[in-house]
Amino acid sequence: MQSPARGGSRFPTLLSPMRVGAHTLRNRVIMGSMHTRLEHASKPVERQAAFYAARAAGGVALVITGGFAPSEAGRLEEGGPILDGSQKLEPHTAIVDQVHRHGSKILLQVLHAGRYAKHDRIVGASEIRSPINPRTPRALSETEIEETIEAFVDCARLAAAAGYDGVEIMGSEGYLINQFTALRTNDRHDRWGGSLENRVRFPVEIVKRIRKKLGFSFLIMYRISAVDLVEGGLTADEIDAQAQAIEAAGADVLNTGIGWHEARVPTIAYSVPRAAFSFAVKRLRGAVSIPVVASNRLNTPELAEELLSDGACDFVSMARPLLADPEFVRKVEESRSDEINTCIACNQACLDFIFSERVATCLVNPIAGYEIDYANKPLATPSRIAVVGSGPAGLAAATAAAARGHRVVLFEEQSEIGGQMLLARRIPAKGEFNELLRYFRRQLELLGVEVQLGTRATAKSLAKGRFDQIVLATGISARLPAIEGINRPNVVSYADAILGHVDIGKRVAIIGTGGIGYDVAEMLTRAADVEQTTQAFLDEYGVDTTIHSPGGLKPPTKRQSPRKVTLLQRRRERPGSRLGVSTGWILRNQLRDKDVEIVAGVSYERISEQGLHYSVDGVAHLLEVDHVVICAGQEPNVALMDDLTGLGIKPHLIGGAEHAVELDAMRAIRQGVELAYSI
Ligand code: NAP
Ligand code: SF4
Repeated sequence: MQSPARGGSRFPTLLSPMRVGAHTLRNRVIMGSMHTRLEHASKPVERQAAFYAARAAGGVALVITGGFAPSEAGRLEEGGPILDGSQKLEPHTAIVDQVHRHGSKILLQVLHAGRYAKHDRIVGASEIRSPINPRTPRALSETEIEETIEAFVDCARLAAAAGYDGVEIMGSEGYLINQFTALRTNDRHDRWGGSLENRVRFPVEIVKRIRKKLGFSFLIMYRISAVDLVEGGLTADEIDAQAQAIEAAGADVLNTGIGWHEARVPTIAYSVPRAAFSFAVKRLRGAVSIPVVASNRLNTPELAEELLSDGACDFVSMARPLLADPEFVRKVEESRSDEINTCIACNQACLDFIFSERVATCLVNPIAGYEIDYANKPLATPSRIAVVGSGPAGLAAATAAAARGHRVVLFEEQSEIGGQMLLARRIPAKGEFNELLRYFRRQLELLGVEVQLGTRATAKSLAKGRFDQIVLATGISARLPAIEGINRPNVVSYADAILGHVDIGKRVAIIGTGGIGYDVAEMLTRAADVEQTTQAFLDEYGVDTTIHSPGGLKPPTKRQSPRKVTLLQRRRERPGSRLGVSTGWILRNQLRDKDVEIVAGVSYERISEQGLHYSVDGVAHLLEVDHVVICAGQEPNVALMDDLTGLGIKPHLIGGAEHAVELDAMRAIRQGVELAYSI
């Protein structure tokens, strides 16, 4: 059944409904499960209901909640979400009602952490510890396996009682179910180990008994690992056989997961090419007759339509892209896909926050998770506002203020908007920043912000402009450390290195190991002759797209760095320890593979024609290099602030100009939006 081709006929498959089990989903976009930790914030039920309601109102066909453990042992952490008793149903009912009110379906995800649990009741299929958890699991007895299956069934029964349309059984990413299905984690000799039939018995029994208990109108989605990406994982034949057994047990639809959490292959970071793992989903779709959902690094409607119309999948699952823009689907329907606030896969405000036990939000959409707080802000009295600087802070302030009805003039000294984002987008793996720039450009246009490019705003011109409010987002200047020889021709700024203004030599020293130092090192050690295709990425990480080998792994292709790069820092702390939790390990591994040396505890002496002279613990060293690239942080640009204050005008200062230390687009955008809502 096809709907009329809305979205200007560009997205006919994406917008068409499809039947799944006893339910019809109104389009092909599913909001994938994501643990938000909103339950730890103030007004948790109201907050979660508003969060999911915004996504349902935005047109998504189906929402999947974050994971709920079916039993105490299955909790991810102490106090983690659990649904094991009818006394815990109340918050669920409010969430389900909100989502249904906006025409979406909703599933509860049932997730048993198994050996990934961060508490002392940790259990697993066998007593085999995970490399990413110091705790060793206790192997479940046969009686306990039976009890765990029944706990899954009871959790599904409770979900039905709360009004959910069904459940998603989490059988991927290395959680308990995977720990049964893979030999890597299952060395049992009873009917739950050994042959594939025995190993998949655990999920098969779960699905079979839920179907029996709750009947055919209850939707059962099973999230299968389409490729494990760990040694001792499943082969393609085993994945297919598992999928067929799950279908036969009564699942209505297969969602897909890519890689276990302990896999050393990045699967969702910005450095992963879009749809890099769709090969595994497409292959799986050929093995079953129920619908299959694709996931991982799908962030645009164009890509989703391509995968759907190519027959790679029946649905696309997006979690982070719907955090970034709850109206993703509605914008597609209304032929406004160029207005989508695209997820840039940075993980900074979602996964990194969750891993550090904070409540998830989004770098490009700081309102995510705070819907109730922003809905309650008082309306603005329209005024005339000048925003100076069009980096992330200035753009966020200008667009949010204009959306609240203010008349905004945005001044930018350069010929293009973007500030530091113009540099970030040039880092090979960070091309997604182009999407953020596209989004802001379109918003400025739609909201009628007057943009004055190539205009240096001065205190005098601003005073003359008689603005009601002045917002300074004048950004930063790169710090030039006081090192003898810093002005020599062999010293290069990070901006010049990133923009390719200098032909960088074969031997390079980088001063500074912040995010930018790491990015520049990664860029300079990339083999220039290898095009950054999806295949090149998969080869580099040793992904076998045939999945003939267990886990879908093969020896990685090692690419030589075209340069010898050394990173240096004055601090003694572990280099790279301040990088993002979910992306830092990728950068650190990449640099290690390219034999980048990192020296800590450095005192810089001078820079000469020969290179960089420094000492560590009083011992002098000379690093013979062709170029020294300075990535030593930033200083705030506050001259205009001082000039305005001198004239008795009090502007608002935001972004890097307000706080240049560990400059950060996430903080800048949040500050810009918060300020706009306070004016
Ligand atoms: P940063 O994180 O503040 O790092 C500045 C580096 O310069 C430090 O390694 C510091 O190390 C060194 N430094 C500071 N003052 C110095 C001086 N006077 N002389 C010599 N070295 C000095 O700044 P950034 O690298 O420019 O990054 C800015 C921000 O961009 C990051 O904090 C992050 O928010 C964002 N970013 C993140 C990523 C990522 O996580 N992947 C990537 C890019 C950008 P010592 O003081 O120990 O020498
Ligand atoms: Fe996407 Fe970054 Fe927002 Fe997470 S924080 S949803 S990765 S844009």
